[in-house]
Amino acid sequence: MKPAPFKYTSPSTITAALDLLAENAYDAKLLAGGQSLIPAMNFRLTQPAMLIDLNRLDKLDYVRVANNNTVQIGAMTRQRTLERNQLIRDMLPLMSETLPFIAHSQIRNRGTIGGSLAHADPAAELPAILVALQGRLRLRNRMRERWVPAEAFFKGIFTTDLAPDEIIVEVEFPSISKGDGWSFLEFSRRKGDYALMGVAALLTVDSQGVCRSARLVYLNSGEVPTVASLATGLLEGEKPSGILFEAVARVAASDVIAPTANIHASVPYLRHLAYSLTKRALEVAHSRALASVET
Ligand SMILES: Cc1cc2nc3c(=O)[nH]c(=O)nc-3n(C[C@H](O)[C@H](O)[C@H](O)COP(=O)(O)OP(=O)(O)OC[C@H]3O[C@@H](n4cnc5c(N)ncnc54)[C@H](O)[C@@H]3O)c2cc1C
Repeated sequence: MKPAPFKYTSPSTITAALDLLAENAYDAKLLAGGQSLIPAMNFRLTQPAMLIDLNRLDKLDYVRVANNNTVQIGAMTRQRTLERNQLIRDMLPLMSETLPFIAHSQIRNRGTIGGSLAHADPAAELPAILVALQGRLRLRNRMRERWVPAEAFFKGIFTTDLAPDEIIVEVEFPSISKGDGWSFLEFSRRKGDYALMGVAALLTVDSQGVCRSARLVYLNSGEVPTVASLATGLLEGEKPSGILFEAVARVAASDVIAPTANIHASVPYLRHLAYSLTKRALEVAHSRALASVET
């Protein structure tokens, strides 16, 4: 299929893009990497009257450090750029570990962080990572800008807090600290497919090896990334162990996530995947956390 006819615009400044969006908010779509939007247009699932191509906005393509412990990423930064970035490896290793799971390298060469977050696919990795790391997004329209925390941004399947006249310009993440351990694991039927189930685990231990905080966030487990606080509460203030990880995984998989059956997997199977992935992710995150306090 080919897309329905549309007007193509290619502004060279953020101000010009915001003006175009303000004037055509309900008819226009922003074009970033095009890896989700163009297939949807080809299938005529969406038929915008205008495309506002953001690809000339070089100013939205950057990775930088602010206040020593915060990483800021421009919305038009490609997923592949992030995957290869040393700063991301050092300061956001959870994101670094996750990026290769997104589709194939050809798609990551074009796909952007802003596009993936705005698209808000419940099976996508970057929304889960944004929520796991408790990042926030800087949104702008013609008149003002505002910051939205990750958990308030995702509202439902393919639905976010973005107003029709707003653009994501930046995403900000707190850096990893001493005592933090991390892990991302997912299962898909073939390499590059969207995951059937995936989990991001973060664990912080003190010098005595006691868990000070833990976070589990699941993709494809509901309409938005699911935070399993009920399960991770079992870990806080305790010395982690295999038995505790099993208990946490059981609670998260059976009482917290709400996956839906699809042609590839039943709900019990998806819960089983979540249980197994969680146990392994916690073990890996824990050993990294211990190694980090020892150095
Ligand atoms: C075969 C295939 C497999 C894939 N597998 C995976 C996978 O396993 N995991 C995964 O996470 N993704 C996967 N993707 C999607 C891919 O990661 C996309 O890159 C991503 O979903 C969208 O990013 P994009 O930059 O291409 O955005 P686009 O497709 O250009 O835009 C997507 C949406 O976001 C809006 N948008 C874009 N940028 C902004 C902005 N700055 N502010 C506000 N709105 C904006 C657009 O208007 C549009 O509605 C796959 C894609 C394909 C084609």
